[in-house]
Amino acid sequence: MPKDPIHPKKRNAEGVMESPRQLSVRDHYDVIVCGGGPAGVGAALAAAREGARTLVIEQYGMLGGVWTAGLLNPFFECGGRGWVVDDLVNRLTQEGAFRKWRAHDYCFDIESMRRILEQMLTEAGADLLYYTRIADSIIEDDKICGVVIESKAGRQAVMAEVVIDTTGDGDVLARSGCEYNLGRESDGHLQPMTLMFEVRGLPHDYEQESSQVLYDQMMQAIKTHSLAYELPYPRCGYAPWIMGTPSPGVGDVQSTHVFRMNPLDPADLTRGTIDCRQQAAETVEILKRIPGFEQVELTHTASQIGIREARRLVGRYSMELQDLIEGRRFEDAVTSCGFVIDVHHEEAAGKEVEMVHTRIKPYEIPYRSLIPQELRGLLVAGRCISGSHEAHASYRVTGTAMALGQAAGLAAARAVREKIELVDVDGRALRATLQQRGAKFADDVKVVHQS
Ligand SMILES: Cc1cc2nc3c(=O)[nH]c(=O)nc-3n(C[C@H](O)[C@H](O)[C@H](O)COP(=O)(O)OP(=O)(O)OC[C@H]3O[C@@H](n4cnc5c(N)ncnc54)[C@H](O)[C@@H]3O)c2cc1C
Repeated sequence: MPKDPIHPKKRNAEGVMESPRQLSVRDHYDVIVCGGGPAGVGAALAAAREGARTLVIEQYGMLGGVWTAGLLNPFFECGGRGWVVDDLVNRLTQEGAFRKWRAHDYCFDIESMRRILEQMLTEAGADLLYYTRIADSIIEDDKICGVVIESKAGRQAVMAEVVIDTTGDGDVLARSGCEYNLGRESDGHLQPMTLMFEVRGLPHDYEQESSQVLYDQMMQAIKTHSLAYELPYPRCGYAPWIMGTPSPGVGDVQSTHVFRMNPLDPADLTRGTIDCRQQAAETVEILKRIPGFEQVELTHTASQIGIREARRLVGRYSMELQDLIEGRRFEDAVTSCGFVIDVHHEEAAGKEVEMVHTRIKPYEIPYRSLIPQELRGLLVAGRCISGSHEAHASYRVTGTAMALGQAAGLAAARAVREKIELVDVDGRALRATLQQRGAKFADDVKVVHQS
């Protein structure tokens, strides 16, 4: 009969002391991608297509992160990214799983996204481990050389030449001793969290005019029907939004909000999820009282509460508000962005709305923003790259996150192939390759959603 050994621990005044343990090494890869969200799939596809032996480690049983576990739509900033991002967009379009949403954006079918991402990863030859959490980093001589994973199989090590942190929350960079920022500089507040949910029974070809119009309709319904509900945010541009998906009558709703919570604290994550689930049910009750929405039903809430902002690396270059206002270009740019500064703070009626209206120009993000200051062997991509709270509120969108992942995967594969440090990968050459593969940079990008 199987029997696992007990790992010895001792209680002491500070807590519990674990004794050293021997970890089995599961495998050795060229590139390990930690987290299979938009940035992670971009990184893994790029690295694997460049010939690197690549592993993606993901805590859920699906790829896509906030797109899939988080029920998020639309796919902002998905155009002009080139290479693997264009490939994803083309496949979604060919399947009829992509639908235009308002003037510039697209919504996708979430189940198709899950399957297509798996197909693409498999075709590229990347390995995938689901239901596995990255618990720690393995550092030797100022270089990350692998990660400790935790799964039903217990704790194991997986080794790599390059590790890419695409956990969104920057779990790996934190476990690796890299410096990071958390929250806005003035008071440490992080953007609120939102549990997305899906509804059916929307009017045929529903297209929302603005968040303010729907807000007013909801407030009217509360008043008319004397409902004992309150909307959890002020009248503003960021919520509520109902995004019609390619499936008739089905929409993903961005409405619930919990403020002043720490997404790195499981107690806050739990309380936030419970509060948001209640808000979702109440939102649907209100919607049903709006003429035309009588048939709307809540089908399900997301498995993962949406985290807009957590750790942000302190890297070799930090993206700042001024870079966005000036529309800065960089020789070693690996992507561009034209998305507004999208902050969801409670004070949305005051200063923060002004922030949304801070005029930016299309700007670029340099390769250096993905590289830690000291540690070798690690790249960071997605929403946890190096930048300020305000700059992050623009580049955090999924099209940019996947494009950053694509660049990180390319750089990682190059470093492995040429046996050089990540910091010695030529950022200008990365830019040139990405451009050859169809990526557009700031001269060819427009700012969207700016009033
Ligand atoms: C509510 C909400 C609404 C938004 N609206 C939009 C929108 O409409 N359009 C848009 O384009 N963007 C939107 N964004 C922004 C965007 O979703 C994120 O910034 C984007 O997902 C960043 O991608 P990422 O790959 O960096 O992170 P994530 O999507 O968070 O992916 C991280 C992945 O890593 C995995 N992971 C994390 N930690 C571990 C670990 N320790 N071990 C193993 N796996 C791990 C996660 O399960 C996940 O799959 C929104 C965000 C939120 C929260």
